[in-house]
Amino acid sequence: MTTKAPYEPTAWMRQAVAARVRVFAPAIRAAPAEIMVMLMLSEPPEGSTPEVQDAWEVTCDRCSAYCGDEDTDFFTGAVAVVDARGRRITVTFGLCEACRALEGVDVG
Ligand SMILES: [Zn+2]
Repeated sequence: MTTKAPYEPTAWMRQAVAARVRVFAPAIRAAPAEIMVMLMLSEPPEGSTPEVQDAWEVTCDRCSAYCGDEDTDFFTGAVAVVDARGRRITVTFGLCEACRALEGVDVG
């Protein structure tokens, strides 16, 4: 399921996105201007087993709840920000139902 515009990120989401953009700022600056920049809000721990990576794919970025069970909803979305140099950066995220509601993301 994906987010439906318009979506106004909460303070938590804005801080999480800014932190991710800071981590990747050197690589973003070094990349050619025409390359679209897309980041994930989180990533699995370095050296994770395939099983841990699979679980991470359906784990909430906000509360770390595992949402891989068939009857558990998991929502994905994206926030776009523009850096100081005018480059558009899209950050994707995944949320459990409770955090989707907290974040105010509508689904359609
Ligand atoms: Zn959550």
